[in-house]
Amino acid sequence: MFLPVCRQDMDERGWDQLDVLFVSGDAYIDHPAFGVPLLARLLEAEGYRVGILAQPDWRNPLAMQAMGRPRLFAAVSAGAMDSMVNHYTAAKKLRRNDAYTPGGQSGSRPNRAVIAYTASLKGAFKGLPVIIGGIEASLRRLAHYDYWSDSIRRSLLVDSKASLLLYGMAETALLELTHRMAAGEELATIRDLRGTALLCTERPVEGVELPSFEAVVDDTAAFNEAFRLAAGEINPYCARPLLQGHGARWLLVNPPPLPLEPARLDRLYALPFQRRPHPDYNETIPAFEQIRHSVTSHRGCCGGCAFCAIAQHQGKFIQSRSEQSICQEVQRLVEDDGFRGTVSDVGGPSANMYGMRCGNAEARRQCRRDGCLFPEPCPHLQVDDGAAVHLLKRLRAIKGVRHLFIASGVRLDLLDKQPHYQRQLIAEHVSGLLKVAPEALCEELTRVMRKPGPQAFKSFLTRFREHSQRCGKRQSVVPYLIAGHPGSTLEHMLETALLLRQLGLQVEQVQEFTPTPGTLSSCIYHTGCDPFSGNGVHVPRSDRERRLQKALLLWHLPENRAAVREALKRCGREKDGALLLGGRPAANESSPRRRGRALDRGRGKA
Ligand code: SF4
Repeated sequence: MFLPVCRQDMDERGWDQLDVLFVSGDAYIDHPAFGVPLLARLLEAEGYRVGILAQPDWRNPLAMQAMGRPRLFAAVSAGAMDSMVNHYTAAKKLRRNDAYTPGGQSGSRPNRAVIAYTASLKGAFKGLPVIIGGIEASLRRLAHYDYWSDSIRRSLLVDSKASLLLYGMAETALLELTHRMAAGEELATIRDLRGTALLCTERPVEGVELPSFEAVVDDTAAFNEAFRLAAGEINPYCARPLLQGHGARWLLVNPPPLPLEPARLDRLYALPFQRRPHPDYNETIPAFEQIRHSVTSHRGCCGGCAFCAIAQHQGKFIQSRSEQSICQEVQRLVEDDGFRGTVSDVGGPSANMYGMRCGNAEARRQCRRDGCLFPEPCPHLQVDDGAAVHLLKRLRAIKGVRHLFIASGVRLDLLDKQPHYQRQLIAEHVSGLLKVAPEALCEELTRVMRKPGPQAFKSFLTRFREHSQRCGKRQSVVPYLIAGHPGSTLEHMLETALLLRQLGLQVEQVQEFTPTPGTLSSCIYHTGCDPFSGNGVHVPRSDRERRLQKALLLWHLPENRAAVREALKRCGREKDGALLLGGRPAANESSPRRRGRALDRGRGKA
């Protein structure tokens, strides 16, 4: 049974009032891959009456009143993506598609959805506490740079006028909050929950004071300092509260939630999800089609890439489900009517981080690194591939599973130390194309991005091709690359293009860097300076420079020839044009057969 979405659903359950009303910017897909249904199912399992308003009309208070006033509070999320990232391209053009909406249609949620939904709820239910959470609230919890207005904005808690902000993975905080409010505690007195941010009229006694909102608006050095101080407090085992003045009030950000132990994680995935979109929808939802036959094995990422906010949201510690729980979920997939024998993905933020952990309890308790891999892998990080290898073996043995693919990205510098996983991955789990994300192929730039350098990519590619050939597999790698990242110059893109060509690779999709809230790269984009080293960093801001960078990575597309010539001229490297523009192709290179993806034209292809 789906959770109630209207009064009639409540009547069928014999409910006259909800305890908690969830409002989401995404369509309602009852599946553990989506945050709002997962949290709602968790509260339901604890005996609370919950309902979901998915993509309600925020301009109409009556839409918010469809299930009446909830007894405890309303909980708002913009959905699985920040609404501004969802709506606009890197060039700030309106997107036509929204993967989280039936039919992929855009326009079903507002810009700055958390603010709009909260205002609408407050209009509909006077005095009702409104709690905000999800990616949009989580990554905008402090004063932050907002690319779309090109300005520093206040904490989303201030701008939305909500009562409390939940950041990170919110299961524990939401559950405790609900229990305490159900027991009669006033929300205003609940100030000590991990993973929450709240506003205080007086300065809290304890905490790390960040430069105030007003200071970071005025001064990029203050912004960098705020970023650096906050980055040192992401380890839940030693983090202190953060304090940031906003006008006459203080924003208090309590320490992050503790990682969930496997048993608690397993419990979430065993909740009675219907594993499909709500039956009211007539059209398919692209995001569901993508994940319907996939399984999440873990959460969190210890990579610490500069442009990524996963560690800020899910945490840097890897939280893995038990093998048993994942096998049970795959077994359920096999029993699903639409299943045709292929599990499309088993992974998490980086597929090969399943089972990884910090192996030194004392170091873990005191660690203030924001990732475990940069600048060098920490010696305490246990990257042993035994758990992942055993998991894949068990999953392959499940009756009805004919193919089991890894579609999540893999962190390729770890594969060096995971020889069994690497062999299995190449031999059994590539669906023709393996995604890897070097993001750039020149050392100077990958250091700014905090990614492994080109050598790691080259040696992986060699191993991939050799092993694929040994296995008789026709398969390729898809290198994901970014143009326009802070630190990126035309020379870096040219270096990357020449190396791609030397390796017999062509890329047909390049991501243009977007400064999304909360990341190190966005901080550098705004300040032009690395907050940790204090070094100035070139930021390609003009549309022309970004377009030329992208054209260099896509040098082989006929429509880019003029731009490539211009870029070569700007670099004073016209001679290299012979290689990129009409020079004889490399021996292992041929023209692309398929568009819209990267093609590995290397030796490994049989
Ligand atoms: S592995 Fe190293 S960097 Fe990572 S949490 Fe442990 S001590 Fe810190």
